[in-house]
Amino acid sequence: MEKMKNPKISHKKPLIWPILQLIFGFEWDETKDHNGFCWAFGNTIYAKHYMQKEIIVHEMVHLFQQRYSKIYGTWHLLKYTFDKKFRIETEILAFREQYKYTRRTFGRKIAETAKPELARRLALYGIKDPEKIVNNW
Ligand SMILES: [Zn+2]
Repeated sequence: MEKMKNPKISHKKPLIWPILQLIFGFEWDETKDHNGFCWAFGNTIYAKHYMQKEIIVHEMVHLFQQRYSKIYGTWHLLKYTFDKKFRIETEILAFREQYKYTRRTFGRKIAETAKPELARRLALYGIKDPEKIVNNW
């Protein structure tokens, strides 16, 4: 991955919220996932709650994909919403960087233990054989 910029982090609802809610049915007060809601748009990561560093790295990949621009971010959101192949590709890249961050920070052994969870997350995007993908990292 090319050099990624440090993100801005906002704990406020993004202005685009009503659209996200409409498309994805997100809940701002979602507490089931301890990371809660987070969304990368333009040059900012919007998160209601504290995010673990590996989640920030994941979202930083999405900011990079959006060229840190709200214009490209809007294009990215539309393509992400309607183009499943694009969505899968962007998520595989983001989860791979997330994995690589974990490996760099905590070592290979701990990173290996994170793989089943990463595969489970990838499966949520309709990715086939997610175990095969993560085992190639
Ligand atoms: Zn993602």
